[in-house]
Amino acid sequence: MPEKIVAGNWKMNTLPEQGLTLSESVLGALPEILGCKVILCPPFTHLDRVIRLLKGTSVLPGSQNVSAYKQGAYTGEVSADMLAAMGIQYSIVGHSERRQYFSERGDTLKNKLVRLKEVGIIPIFCVGETLEERESGQEGTVVLTQLNEALPETLENSTELVVAYEPVWAIGTGKTASPEQASEMHGVIRQDLIHRYGSSIGGEISILYGGSVKPDNAAELFSMDDIDGGLIGGAALNAADFISIIKAFK
Ligand code: PEP
Repeated sequence: MPEKIVAGNWKMNTLPEQGLTLSESVLGALPEILGCKVILCPPFTHLDRVIRLLKGTSVLPGSQNVSAYKQGAYTGEVSADMLAAMGIQYSIVGHSERRQYFSERGDTLKNKLVRLKEVGIIPIFCVGETLEERESGQEGTVVLTQLNEALPETLENSTELVVAYEPVWAIGTGKTASPEQASEMHGVIRQDLIHRYGSSIGGEISILYGGSVKPDNAAELFSMDDIDGGLIGGAALNAADFISIIKAFK
């Protein structure tokens, strides 16, 4: 069975103190037995403090981005080695906002995955189609191309990679893909991963759904075939909502 995961992507929200308060509220409200792995991805500026707070708890720290370069004269970049040295275990790569506003695609994303692999950080690799692409029936082709452009040729085990299907038209818009639409696309991704890595690895990689997941739709989405959890944006900024989403797995 693929591991069940709920990850919170705070994006460029919260100041450090607010981020710590949010983390404390999440930790304080978590039931002792969780039905899934929980990951928090704060902005870089709060990572160190959040990591210290999470140490020894069941919640794991993740970053929202990583440099495609290993080290050197790349002003403003944060390398995979730096993240690993801080204790980061997961990193989001290829989020649609990075693709849209920072023109990240293809080789850049592939190199980010290589950098993470070198230091043992697990990528949460995001794919998803725009509204125009869905309306013209290209969602499957778009997502398969995004996987093909960046994924490594081989994996040693299924826990080295997490994929997140995030239809761009559903991110931060309040429009959620229907459970059937999401499950259909997760099935397309699952088949591709099996084809790429074989069933013992490709069949076990966690595939998360992201796009306006809220407490009232999480349980239904998470009950669908091949939906192994969620990447949560807006609702991850509210501890009560995020906890309700985590509890949707119980
Ligand atoms: C996201 O940014 O990854 C996301 C899914 O955002 P939201 O939950 O706000 O749609």
